Amino acid sequence: MYAALKKKMRGIYIHIPFCKAKCTYCDFASYPKEIGKAETYFACLYKEIKGRAENLKDKTFDTVYFGGGTPSFVDAKYIFGAMKQIRNFYKLSDNAEITVEANPGTLSAEKVKIYKKAGINRFSLGLQSADDKTLYKLGRIHTAKDFLFACELLKGENVSADILLGLEDQTKDDVKNSIDLAIKGGVSHISAYTLKAEEGTPMYGKYLNGDLPSEDEQAELYDFARAYLAENGFKRYEVSNFCKEGYESKHNMNYWNRGEYIGFGVSASSFISERRFTNTEKIDEYIACILRNKVAEIFSEEIEGDEREFEFLMLGLRTEKGISYRDFTARFGGDFRQKYADKLKTVEKYVEETEYGIRIKPEFLYVQNTIIINFMD
Ligand code: SF4
Repeated sequence: MYAALKKKMRGIYIHIPFCKAKCTYCDFASYPKEIGKAETYFACLYKEIKGRAENLKDKTFDTVYFGGGTPSFVDAKYIFGAMKQIRNFYKLSDNAEITVEANPGTLSAEKVKIYKKAGINRFSLGLQSADDKTLYKLGRIHTAKDFLFACELLKGENVSADILLGLEDQTKDDVKNSIDLAIKGGVSHISAYTLKAEEGTPMYGKYLNGDLPSEDEQAELYDFARAYLAENGFKRYEVSNFCKEGYESKHNMNYWNRGEYIGFGVSASSFISERRFTNTEKIDEYIACILRNKVAEIFSEEIEGDEREFEFLMLGLRTEKGISYRDFTARFGGDFRQKYADKLKTVEKYVEETEYGIRIKPEFLYVQNTIIINFMD
């Protein structure tokens, strides 16, 4: 994986803002009632893809990621069309990783066939839980059986599953069942995210009521998941991401390596030539901007020197491997150990040197945010 860390990569993100129903914990840009706008939305998306190409014609992209929302909810012809547009206007590397997020309740053999024809070679399934009652309470539209059916359709493919930790009344056995089901489905990558109740979602009410596990209980569930995944051959490579040898998500590694990416569609973010910019979250506003030949950005900032360094450390220290001294010097100049000698003393209990750099000790990775914030003062 270090080779992948060192190589300068670039990603493309495409946001599909449609879902069949809204989950109780979701604060992503996803709009179940707006599916009628799909045709117009995709016409605008294709236009945006083409419109940004001129400025990016010298760059090669190593990953494409369809996220959402639920990309598998819309007609697969739209995903096919987006890939065609990408290939028409952008340079993709030969072994580009091309992922589509899919809700197990929305996949079909026909869709999978079209995805494969479009060159998609990685599938990310939102399992979340193996317990149907929990799935129902979360507002998910699928069952455990649907998940296994989706895995059957994707047999032989590179498949990842997302599971949630810290759900109401969730026990270690529940976590074990979710992991067991993902393994039964044959996945090679598991993302285990701790639920964060976002303000404005129904789940936030549960959080205010004290119905969700405390931070300590969440940490226990996480520790259990990490150990159980390790027992089953899934090595952690980032705080929430685990995989079999060689199945790291290149697309996400690029984010953590502070690589460049271009995002298309509603709410998509980009980071190109030290500029971060984000599109509007509102579908109508997005469509109106693109139809008027304008960019749909609502936010843009240049990242300056110190901030670049901070981001590099923040992102790199989320990973199991941590950061490389050589990489640090190549990007920012100077010697990391000298530059941060005083600060390193304040966190010495939590970090350790590796063969090529520094990382947060594995037992503290779950609380990396607090450590990094103390470190960066
Ligand atoms: S499927 Fe995903 S994006 Fe859609 S509502 Fe549920 S959590 Fe949000």
